Amino acid sequence: MKSADLLKITKTHGAPVYVYDAEKISSQFKRLTDAFKGVGQLRLNYAAKALSNISILRLMNSLGSGLDTVSIQEVQLGLLAGFKPESIIYTPNGVSLEEIEEAATLGVQINIDNLSVLEQFGSKHPDVPVCIRINPHVMAGGNSNISVGHIDSKFGISIHQIPHLLRIVELTKMNINGIHMHTGSDILDIDVFLYASEILFETAKNFKDLDFIDFGSGFKVPYKPGDIETNVEELGKKLTTRFNEFCAEYGKELTLAFEPGKFLVSEAGFFLAKVNVVKQTTSTVFASVDSGFNHLIRPMLYGSQHEIVNVSNPKGRERYYSVVGYICETDTFGSNRLINEISEGDILAFKNAGAYCFTMASNYNSRYRPAEVLWYNNEAHLIRKRETFDDIINNQVDAKHLFDVKREKLVAK
Ligand SMILES: *Cc1c(COP(=O)(O)O)cnc(C)c1O
Repeated sequence: MKSADLLKITKTHGAPVYVYDAEKISSQFKRLTDAFKGVGQLRLNYAAKALSNISILRLMNSLGSGLDTVSIQEVQLGLLAGFKPESIIYTPNGVSLEEIEEAATLGVQINIDNLSVLEQFGSKHPDVPVCIRINPHVMAGGNSNISVGHIDSKFGISIHQIPHLLRIVELTKMNINGIHMHTGSDILDIDVFLYASEILFETAKNFKDLDFIDFGSGFKVPYKPGDIETNVEELGKKLTTRFNEFCAEYGKELTLAFEPGKFLVSEAGFFLAKVNVVKQTTSTVFASVDSGFNHLIRPMLYGSQHEIVNVSNPKGRERYYSVVGYICETDTFGSNRLINEISEGDILAFKNAGAYCFTMASNYNSRYRPAEVLWYNNEAHLIRKRETFDDIINNQVDAKHLFDVKREKLVAK
């Protein structure tokens, strides 16, 4: 998207505001589909938790995506957005048996990641097909950012528990129709991913009625020009070959599934905020924006580096700034950033603001959550209104009667 388009959106819809470029989402979807064109049946289930606005879910549905959900509310949102139940996979962690049963009643694909719930669910509902989430315990290069399903992880059923898993399946006579892994982190090393896939294939041989194998997600996207990213094309070539070999061995054409979140929406998103104050101190120049970690928590939560550009002055001389928020705690979006000269009132754009940004926003400091806009066919469409004071007070119960003390009583006579 062009700076001028972003700036125009703030004129119409105000700031702070999130903007999503539908074109970028579509092209990422196509890129991943193309990378796996050698697979007979490919299924991409968009991970709703990355960005769950209903209009984004409708866009995904129109592209032919399925939906990966982690809560019953995400399942409900998906159904409301027009996804068929069979296009939705429900992959929760640590939720109650009741919630899983509720999802099963709605007809979505259940994915279970622990033996306790598997045993209970299988005993009560042996006819409902279930996918199982495996933890392959693969650790790479000593960098925790690229480790997949490590031994301390709370996710998945350990491959060391396969004998117990098989016993439960046999005793309950439940039907396992899919197996799944999700690495949960940025995949840089394709070979590590392929190694984990081999463990999944090995595990799959234990089940006779599989329909699909789900390789999860964790694709790394670039955060600035020249940044490292997962080479999905190379992964596509290598995994396709291995997957097709496995299907031949297994004797059935299975569906290859992925659940990308970040890959589809991260780069499509821009967060726009207005500069309130430019403050020169003895050591730096701060640019304070009308936002904070209540709206974009990733830099403070896990040190994400969102590129920041000045869309009001894209040709200005570059200077170093520390861009900070208005929250009354350390609230830094970026330190020592080279940005085109900033004046008070300028609009800054934070890039890679599509995934895990709005969905993690809160009302901290009793601020309103921002509006959301979808840029589609060169036009801005409002897809979420900015909150108002009603949203802050709506669910609060004012215990006024408890404290309705007459003022005179407090005054000593
Ligand atoms: C969060 C999540 C994803 C998406 O991960 P990304 O890194 O955003 O692609 C996929 N599958 C499951 C089960 C998840 O919890």
